[in-house]
Amino acid sequence: MAINTSPSGLLFDIQGFSVHDGPGCRSVVFLKGCSLNCQWCANPEGILPVPTPLYSVSRCLLEGDCVTACPSNAIHLHPHSIHINYSLCASCPISACIHACPTNALKVCGYQQTIDELYSKIQRDRNFWGDNGGVTLSGGEPLMQIEFTSSLLKKCYDACIHTAIETCGQVPWRHFEAVLPYLDWIFFDLKHINPDLHKLATGSGNRGILDNAKQLAHAFKGRIIYRIPLIPGFNDKPGNLHDMAEFIRSTGHHEINLLPLHHWGREKYAKLQSPYPADHYTVPTKKQLQEAQSIFNSHQLKCYIGSDTPF
Ligand code: SF4
Ligand code: SF4
Repeated sequence: MAINTSPSGLLFDIQGFSVHDGPGCRSVVFLKGCSLNCQWCANPEGILPVPTPLYSVSRCLLEGDCVTACPSNAIHLHPHSIHINYSLCASCPISACIHACPTNALKVCGYQQTIDELYSKIQRDRNFWGDNGGVTLSGGEPLMQIEFTSSLLKKCYDACIHTAIETCGQVPWRHFEAVLPYLDWIFFDLKHINPDLHKLATGSGNRGILDNAKQLAHAFKGRIIYRIPLIPGFNDKPGNLHDMAEFIRSTGHHEINLLPLHHWGREKYAKLQSPYPADHYTVPTKKQLQEAQSIFNSHQLKCYIGSDTPF
């Protein structure tokens, strides 16, 4: 019997037909696990590096089948909902709670897939990519699962598929080194130039991120677009924007995609039984976005707002 040695990765979504994450039409693969924990994360279900139960209270019968089934005593029944202690789920291989639930109030987020399985799924989209489409790896942080990510990118690159990643930059430099030969584009997130404020909102300082950005300036010959979420009250002060602009200029790259904060992740936090951490931030107005754009432009950087990025 042939043994499948294709490395496997933990994914939580695959979306076809994306036109916002690189040139042409793209298949976007979302890998589970992130090295940051941003307050405004739109994909909080992708942060934990393990399969995670998502809970819909409106479907719950409150009969407690999941409570009985859980081998880790991680679920407790409350009068109007269950409560899951997610820290106990990290070592649970079976998601017994999900199988026990009769109404799909619990669903698992995260599944293993081998390179070969994923590649054949991606291949089915190939006819829709057009001349310049391809594959973008996102997350979570796609460079966390580096063996899987580098093997997948190599396989795509060898098959002349255009490759891109969206990264928060918070990984050891050797993880970048492992994928650079197989990458055409990088979307590199920057959130704040001040390490303390960065840590306050993302759980981690930014020194490693800035160091990686500097190293990429020399080591990567493809296209880098910096992605900056504009979050009023967090990173929209002119001083911070000027400092970020100067930093980006110093890397020799000059393209920014400014992304307005949105609150689309709110319902996902509810399914993770977690309060929404970005409630106190307001969505930026068009004027605020344009003011930030003109600050970046004043540093001779090209700044595109939202989906206006020319690919
Ligand atoms: S880096 Fe991205 S995926 Fe990770 S927590 Fe922040 S917003 Fe979410
Ligand atoms: S995933 Fe496992 S440990 Fe977590 S609640 Fe479900 S059965 Fe219990």
